[in-house]
Amino acid sequence: MAKAAITVKKLHYTYPNSTNEALHNVSLTIKEQEFVAIIGQTGSGKSTLVSLIDGLIKPSSGELNVVAGLEINATTKTEYLSKIHHQVGFVFQFPEQQLFAETVAEDIAFGPHNLGWPAKKIEKAVDEALKMVDLPLELKSHSPFALSGGQMRRVAIAGVLAMDPQILILDEPTAGLDTQATNDLLKLIKDLNEKGTTIIMVTHQMEQVAYYANHVIAMSNGQVVADTTPQQLFRDAQRLKKLSLTLPVSVEVAQFLSKDGITLKNTEPLTLDVLADEIAEAMRRKRK
Ligand code: ADP
Repeated sequence: MAKAAITVKKLHYTYPNSTNEALHNVSLTIKEQEFVAIIGQTGSGKSTLVSLIDGLIKPSSGELNVVAGLEINATTKTEYLSKIHHQVGFVFQFPEQQLFAETVAEDIAFGPHNLGWPAKKIEKAVDEALKMVDLPLELKSHSPFALSGGQMRRVAIAGVLAMDPQILILDEPTAGLDTQATNDLLKLIKDLNEKGTTIIMVTHQMEQVAYYANHVIAMSNGQVVADTTPQQLFRDAQRLKKLSLTLPVSVEVAQFLSKDGITLKNTEPLTLDVLADEIAEAMRRKRK
């Protein structure tokens, strides 16, 4: 059995300038090497939850364990929180907006430099991170601002990967990208996951949940309202509707077909490929 990468116990969080709880009694476990999708409407608490996991803020009460031994609760000293950043990489929404350096190499080196790594180790980390995001090493001396939108986002992500995080949080990583850049970036995230990185991705796209995640956490009003597999989640269309969440197209088509008397063996085909296979199989059965 995979070990727990993150354990959250009875977590509550209220922003200092607010009287309402942004998170209420959240408990969950994320195992090593899972690909977790966090979903829910705007204001449901997704960003607050991932900020707590990254040690950007401290719980008001309850506790978190991030990777073996790093515990955070309301009394944790702020200096201690920086330890979390060594283990957990955070790719913010539109991360390219945070690019600042004159060259791609300097930008990617910023995080490792802050960790106090020696120059040789930083150089190696920059090269490896560029390779991971599938950008040519020639770009190192270029200005990040001369690149395309998709490339800028990759440079920003390389800056996080250069610190070799065991856990990578991505807040809507494909927002604003075209279809090609979206698919390329998701493939990259999937590759990282397959090589061992635990992925936590905030997304509004149910297709991304269906194609990539093996664990999905749905939030509503600061609470976890579903903590399950995509297959299980998409089985309950009524519940999704209540949460104002949609079904992936492939599952929706399967449900339409079922209403027309064509029942697929797999009632929640998570991808269009699976849907096509299921329809072909149902047709064969019908002809017999
Ligand atoms: P999501 O990421 O799902 O959109 P958030 O975690 O940003 O949700 O927000 C959860 C709740 O916390 C919302 O009610 C939101 O208004 C509130 N909130 C978020 N950030 C702040 C802040 N900096 N100060 C006060 N309240 C906030």
